[in-house]
Parts: sequence; structure tokens; C-alpha cells
Amino acid sequence: MTDEALLEAFGDALDQNQLRMAYQPQIGLADGSLRRVEALVRWEHPQHGAISPATFVPIAEKHGLIGKLTDWGLMAVLKQWSIWRSEGLDTDIAFNISALSLEELDFPDRVETMCRGLNVPTDRLVIELTEGATQPLIKLMDTLTRFRIKGIGLALDDFGTGYSSLLQLRHLPFTAVKIDRAFVSDLESSSDCQLIVRSMIDLAHGLGLTATAEGVENADQLRALRVLGCDMAQGYLISHALEPATISDWEREFRGRWRDLICPQATPAGS
Ligand code: C2E
Ligand code: CA
Ligand code: CA
Repeated sequence: MTDEALLEAFGDALDQNQLRMAYQPQIGLADGSLRRVEALVRWEHPQHGAISPATFVPIAEKHGLIGKLTDWGLMAVLKQWSIWRSEGLDTDIAFNISALSLEELDFPDRVETMCRGLNVPTDRLVIELTEGATQPLIKLMDTLTRFRIKGIGLALDDFGTGYSSLLQLRHLPFTAVKIDRAFVSDLESSSDCQLIVRSMIDLAHGLGLTATAEGVENADQLRALRVLGCDMAQGYLISHALEPATISDWEREFRGRWRDLICPQATPAGS
């Protein structure tokens, strides 16, 4: 599809219920417990099948549709949190927001009102933000500070890939960094990557932030991250993004798998 066709189809998708959220677990590396789920938007086009957010989010941003996506997504995740809560599943939710959506100063107030309307405590919500190449996040200082005052968490996504990550961290009120998967993928084989990831984690901790590693695909990476003191991990080894109704089953399954992941020689209990 051309960009124009994609844009038109995306407008329809918003109006015709073709979008849904899938949720990828983030676990605590101390004990393997579910800490958070990251909402990732999915678009199933009636003719073209699944279309990646990496394709359509930038187009929505460029053509003024990102606000609609943000509002739809936020409502979807807050409603989902309430459903999980009523079913006894207790987790925080991470939600990706384009920096463009943060240019309105009243946005944090709107988010707080939506949370209140659905009885979601604001401290259960974490906003994941990527620094754009053209738009330093420092311009959004006021909006970000308003989020923090309301208790909403702020994670700097794709940490290490932006052009001024360190300055952003020092001046902005982030609560967490997400270490980009480019650094995680070579972790078990490259001592340079180990050094870089160790420095990122130490830096995050020194500034009072937590560190989450993205793109963890094998058990060697998971073990290395534990040794380096990383707080949380996310990736295909742990789980792909899941349908909301399957998170509880995944949690049970993962609890059984955790011990083997961190200690492959462990013999099963009772044997
Ligand atoms: P992201 O926020 O960095 O999300 C992580 C991406 O990495 C997701 O791709 C996820 O499926 C993928 N991933 C997770 N674990 C692994 C792994 O172990 N290995 C590899 N190779 N990949 C892994 P996805 O879902 O295609 O999303 C792409 C990007 O689209 C996201 O990157 C985010 O920037 C954006 N996005 C997704 N949902 C939303 C949304 O609701 N709103 C906005 N504004 N952006 C969104
Ligand atoms: Ca993210
Ligand atoms: Ca990321």
C-alpha cells in the first residue's frame, strides 16, 4: 500500500474496530514475577492482514491522527486493567505514547480524569516515550513533570539509541529506562555490550531509576542481565505480546519455567 492508501485505511481502522491491544509481560529479574504488561497496538486489515505499528504509527504521527490513536489506546488499556483487576490479576500497565501527543499541556489532566473514571490508580500506569530524532524530549518538560506529580510513571524507551539520552535522563523526571534490544542481542557474546549494558544499569540506578531490558530472546541473556543487576526484562524468551484473556495462563506457565531459566541444572522438586 502507498502511504496515502495506508493513511486512509488507518482512519477507517480507528472507526471500524480493526485495532486491538496485545500485552507483552515484563518480569522482575529478582524472582520472575509479573510486574507490568506493555500494551502494543495490533491492526488486522480486512484485506492486507496484520500491519505493524512500526509502519502505521509514524504515518499517523505525520498526518495528525496520532491523538486519536492515543485516546483510543489509553481507553482500551484502562478498561483492560479494570477487567483484570476484577478477575484478580494484579499488574501495572505500560503504554506507548508518541511525543507528539504530549504537546498539549492539558494532556496529563485528561489522562488523570480517564484513570479516575475507570478507577485505575494513576501509579499503576507507566508511559513509555521514545526520544524522536528531531524533537528533544526536553521541550516536553512541563507535561512530563505534570505526569509525575499525578503519580504516573515515565519510562525512556529504546534507551541508548537517541542522540542525547544522557542529557534527557539528567534533566527529565523519568522513573525508568528501557535498554534497547540492540544492546541485549549481543550480550552473551560481546564483552563490549556487557560493559555498555552494565554502565546503563549503573547509570539508571545512580539516578534513582529502574532499568528494564528489551528484546530478551534467550536464557543466556536473561542470566547475564541478572548478574548485571538489571531490574526487569521483556522479550520473546519470556513471552510474545498476548491476548488479554491469556495473561493469567501465561503467568502460571512462566512460574513453572522460571527456575529452569535461571538455573538450568536444577532438578525438579521432589526428585
Ligand atoms: P517498542 O515500544 O520498542 O516495542 C517493542 C517492540 O519489540 C514490539 O514491536 C515488540 O513486539 C517487539 N519485541 C518484543 N520482544 C521482542 C524480542 O524478544 N525480540 C524482538 N526482535 N522484538 C521484540 P511492535 O509491537 O511491532 O511495536 C513496534 C513499535 O511500535 C513499538 O516499539 C512502539 O514504538 C510502537 N507502538 C506499539 N504500540 C503502540 C501504541 O499503542 N502507541 C504508539 N504511539 N506506539 C506504539
Ligand atoms: Ca515501548
Ligand atoms: Ca523499545
